[in-house]
Amino acid sequence: MMTIFTLVSLGLGYYIYQQYTHSLEEKLLAQEEAFVATTTYSLQKEMQMQLIALQMTSKSKVLSEYLINHSEQSKVSLESKESLEGLFKNLTVAFQHYDQVRLFDLDGDEMIRINYNHGNPSSTDQSNLQNKHNRYYFQQALSMKPNETYVSKMDLNIENEKIEVPYNPTLRFATQVLDDNGDAVGVLILNYLANDLLENFRHQMTLRINGQGMLIDEQGYWLSNHDRSNEWGMSLGHPENHFKKRYPTAWPIISKSNNGTLKTENGLFRYQAITPLDFSSIESPNKQTDNHAHFPITMESIHNTNWKLVIFLPNEIIQQYSFFYKQSGRLLIALLYFSIAFIMLLLITNSEQKKLRKKNHIRISSELKDLYENAPCGYHTLNPQGVVTRINKTELNWLGYEREEVIGQSFAKFLTPASQDTFETFLTALPKKQEMDGIVLEVQPKQGETFFVSTSAVVLLNEGNFALARTSAFNITDRIELEKRLEYIANTDVLTGISNRRHFFEQVTPLFNQCQDTQTPLTLLMIDVDHFKSVNDIYGHDAGDLVLQHLSHTIKESIHESMLFARLGGEEFVVVAQCNQDEGLILAEQIRSIISLSHIHITEDTQVTITLSIGVAVNHPQHTDIDDILKQADLALYEAKQTGRNRVLAFNEAMKQANHDDYE
Ligand code: GH3
Ligand code: MG
Ligand code: MG
Repeated sequence: MMTIFTLVSLGLGYYIYQQYTHSLEEKLLAQEEAFVATTTYSLQKEMQMQLIALQMTSKSKVLSEYLINHSEQSKVSLESKESLEGLFKNLTVAFQHYDQVRLFDLDGDEMIRINYNHGNPSSTDQSNLQNKHNRYYFQQALSMKPNETYVSKMDLNIENEKIEVPYNPTLRFATQVLDDNGDAVGVLILNYLANDLLENFRHQMTLRINGQGMLIDEQGYWLSNHDRSNEWGMSLGHPENHFKKRYPTAWPIISKSNNGTLKTENGLFRYQAITPLDFSSIESPNKQTDNHAHFPITMESIHNTNWKLVIFLPNEIIQQYSFFYKQSGRLLIALLYFSIAFIMLLLITNSEQKKLRKKNHIRISSELKDLYENAPCGYHTLNPQGVVTRINKTELNWLGYEREEVIGQSFAKFLTPASQDTFETFLTALPKKQEMDGIVLEVQPKQGETFFVSTSAVVLLNEGNFALARTSAFNITDRIELEKRLEYIANTDVLTGISNRRHFFEQVTPLFNQCQDTQTPLTLLMIDVDHFKSVNDIYGHDAGDLVLQHLSHTIKESIHESMLFARLGGEEFVVVAQCNQDEGLILAEQIRSIISLSHIHITEDTQVTITLSIGVAVNHPQHTDIDDILKQADLALYEAKQTGRNRVLAFNEAMKQANHDDYE
């Protein structure tokens, strides 16, 4: 994120910098346009002036007449010479730019030569005049058309084969002198002192932003350079002082194109071909004349003066004007950058925090989901109709169903019939109670044995109405098993495995009450083993135990399972049946008979036979509790013992009288 931000801001910053620098360069260049225009204009004007002077002078009749007649050495000829010398001297003084004014005949002989001589013009003696037939300028002058002007390259003047010091940049202007028929009779050459022209150029350049303006000749050598030591490379034997050497990347473009701007690693160039001999821009536009027709120029001349004005704005100068390089600018940019960076940092931090929160949220959600799904207890949600809308994995595993088999089904479907009733009751009560705990339901899984769950439910309301019940379920099968085991232990006689005394009373009391209420008969058989003590005495206590076990087992087998059967203690047992006395007597007799006939194996080869005495009593409307019947059955039993044992007797009122004391 940070990297993207840095890249984007750097890219944006660079783009803004580029745009700004470009517009600054345009602005700076626009300021240079005036210099380009005025410099070009003044150079062209100056050149035009020289052409006019040359052409005007060459057209003077005196010149052609002198050239035609000079060989006669006549007086007229001498006078002509003097007047020509005077004319030429005036020319030099008037213009102050002609180092030499020379008139040649067609053989290249100097006929007249005036030296400017720093304002004291002098004519050269006949004897010092030379033949220049082979000089390039003379040849050029001879070969051109009548009325044409030849302009040489600008070069340093050479005197006596040495470069004149101080340097004297010179341009030669040459034209033919024509006779009345328009035929050439001689050549007029002006040596133009270009120093002022260059000085004027330099002055113009000093007015510019940085003064780095230069004028290069057609080959790329400096005619003028802000660093004067670079000038005149070729003439002074320093070919390395060349534009190409100094600005290698700029040269190929500037040398090939007439004008334009160019950006290089060093700075910015504005270049313009000067064409000092093209006067179209300085002539009045009303003149529909071609200036070359007016002042025809040789092609060579145009080539010779193919100068270029080059203005250079080094990077340092551009930077001086650039906001980005000013201290205040930098401060502002830094401030801007820091502000943006700070804002971005805030945004990033914020988004990172959001991400972190989201991540945490997802993590917590998944943890909660995991906790919900894999909790050690079952969770399910029910709608008001008891239909399962949600259920966790734990409970699904208990049920052995797939989720889609459970969702949308009534929860009752997964309960045993007995628990379905409990569930209905629970569902009806829940809206009112809002919260219910410890409802024990027996669950019927898809496969395998049922199990017990203890469920707790909380009602979730929607606009005050029972919308859902969130229910948790704990598997309490183990607890139920334990409870059952404890209950069994509490209710069961250890030796015989039948109900003990406590359990008997627990069971018989409600039964007694119910029978009393419904006035249905209830008969109680009190059973006692005859002379059991002697069994112990003869065969030992363990054998006695075996006898008791056998006895209880046999009786249990011979009575109906709806009857209560318990060991009241020692060798005393009780049977309670919902029948009348007669039926009770028959049952008692059956029991007595079976036992008396059975042989009890106490060892492999020892058998014991026992007999029972049984007292029978039946409920009566006056009886208030079970003890009343028990007592009566006891009396009957007592009577049975008394009357010889191994018998069954029903209670009668007489027994009550006879044992009045015991009874009470
Ligand atoms: P009766 O015919 O008058 O009933 O004579 P009885 O010997 O059966 O009567 P009594 O009540 O005098 O003796 C009961 C005996 O039962 C005494 C006791 O040692 C024995 N007894 C009681 N409980 C157990 C028991 O759990 N195991 C064994 N082996 N003997 C028991
Ligand atoms: Mg007894
Ligand atoms: Mg006994």
